[in-house]
Amino acid sequence: MHEMSIALSIIDLAADQAKKAAASKIVEIELDIGTMSGIEIEALNYALEIAVKDSVLEFAEIKINRIEAVSECLECGHIFVPEGFIYHCPECSKTNTRVFKGKEMQVRSILVDYSE
Ligand SMILES: [Zn+2]
Repeated sequence: MHEMSIALSIIDLAADQAKKAAASKIVEIELDIGTMSGIEIEALNYALEIAVKDSVLEFAEIKINRIEAVSECLECGHIFVPEGFIYHCPECSKTNTRVFKGKEMQVRSILVDYSE
């Protein structure tokens, strides 16, 4: 499963950050996943649930922000939400459009704990 390898790389990254910060554990991790990133958020959630066991994220709260796709028309400058796989501009009907939001897959923040 595609999402499982993503889950594992998120855990790797979190473990790396915790190590760098010399933190004992991670309390919370926040992810931004775009609706056009090619990642199924539900599948990623499920993969993380399995993958976090015995990892640095086992007891962390995992927040996933779903970033809706937004496109802009390069002809008329209209900003719109693309529907499905039709990318033409609803204003001028040109297809010269660009998705500028919704492709992200990133860790927004990691909250660590130094208490132990
Ligand atoms: Zn347009």
